[in-house]
Amino acid sequence: MEGLKTQVAIIGAGPAGLLLSQLLHLVGISSIVLERQTRPHVEGRVRAGVLEQGTVEVLTRAGVGARLENEGQRHSGFSISANSKTCRIALEDLTGRHVTVYGQTEVTKDLMAARAAADGELHFEVSNVELHDVESDAPSVTFSKGGVSHRITCSFIAGCDGFHGPSRQVIPRERKLEHERVYPFGWLGILADVPPCDEELVYARSAYGFALASMRSATQSRYYIQCRAGENVADWSEDRLWDEIRRRLGPDMASHVVTGPAVEKGIAPIRSFVCEAMQHGRLFLAGDAAHIVPPTGAKGLNLAVGDVQYLATAFDAYFNASNEAGLKRYADVALQRIWKTQRFSWMMTNLLHDFDDSDSFTQRMQLAELDDIFSSTAKQTAIAENYAGLPYDNILG
Ligand SMILES: Cc1cc2nc3c(=O)[nH]c(=O)nc-3n(C[C@H](O)[C@H](O)[C@H](O)COP(=O)(O)OP(=O)(O)OC[C@H]3O[C@@H](n4cnc5c(N)ncnc54)[C@H](O)[C@@H]3O)c2cc1C
Repeated sequence: MEGLKTQVAIIGAGPAGLLLSQLLHLVGISSIVLERQTRPHVEGRVRAGVLEQGTVEVLTRAGVGARLENEGQRHSGFSISANSKTCRIALEDLTGRHVTVYGQTEVTKDLMAARAAADGELHFEVSNVELHDVESDAPSVTFSKGGVSHRITCSFIAGCDGFHGPSRQVIPRERKLEHERVYPFGWLGILADVPPCDEELVYARSAYGFALASMRSATQSRYYIQCRAGENVADWSEDRLWDEIRRRLGPDMASHVVTGPAVEKGIAPIRSFVCEAMQHGRLFLAGDAAHIVPPTGAKGLNLAVGDVQYLATAFDAYFNASNEAGLKRYADVALQRIWKTQRFSWMMTNLLHDFDDSDSFTQRMQLAELDDIFSSTAKQTAIAENYAGLPYDNILG
């Protein structure tokens, strides 16, 4: 078995793992990143696209802000529509902050390029990743690549391997509490090289179910509709999907929808999940490895970046100033922000979706709540604060 050595072994080269590796590099901390997929596969995964201002600041600090600054679209608001009425949530007017539309694919490409430019050690197409001795002072990670077995000895392991990765499974059942809600619907998404129907995102509640009109740029649109859980994407021809998008957005918005062939089309399940043990010994979880939010609040990628900026600060203090406070506080501080963000994502999901079992009373409550939001600046401000992104606490106390 070939031996490797580093300060932090990072499992997963999604946004969380890549960003952590880059931030650690900038403060002189070594890391090795392990990824089971190929680089083109990771760079091509179409996922999130709305970045909080705090996320953009962290990415800029990480040295990957140049293209984001040039190509990202700054949005000062978004709209919620229901019952033929539309309410613009004026993020900038209400909170002084904005969001930036820039695809996760582009964030990933920028981070990959930065790690490559710095000769960062990334291993793609690895298999049999196993974590060892995480409760000791000398943890290690073993993996196979090209038929050769390797062992990384390290001071810490960062589990950035998403919801299905092996890291969270290492934490014994009795040392973690997992909270989960699986919703009775998924999101069917289409990406197409057509101009968006609106300059800002539109979240639509309709009698036929939820729809989101989003975008990746001025020439690329991203639309989602709520579909039944377990539905097969092959059952949705592009014509059927475009018709349904227009129906749910309502006649005014539908008249601006430009259709075109799908660059990507897929169904994502919708769930809320939190693992309440983001640390176990020398293992720290970050991003989707520890929590999943329904995408209705546009928070998945932003939460991953939040965790990573806490964790990178804590490792910096540990290695460069012999200060353990950040690592000790990491799980508690990160979870406070995670739970508030979970609440927002859950609230937006409950407000805008059609639940299979919802009776007329529940539907009336949704509509009354929307009516309240549409007429209350206080309610709009609360939504704007959450959508623009909650502030980060000082992890070092
Ligand atoms: C289909 C889909 C659509 C989404 N759409 C949106 C959206 O519209 N808006 C939004 O805000 N969020 C969205 N999200 C959520 C957002 O993309 C995630 O929150 C974000 O990717 C989290 O980053 P991460 O690095 O924590 O995890 P991931 O991006 O999942 O990265 C984890 C990495 O670990 C690797 N890995 C897993 N197991 C192993 C192993 N055994 N060994 C080595 N490597 C491993 C994976 O291949 C992956 O590259 C979506 C997620 C999915 C899955």
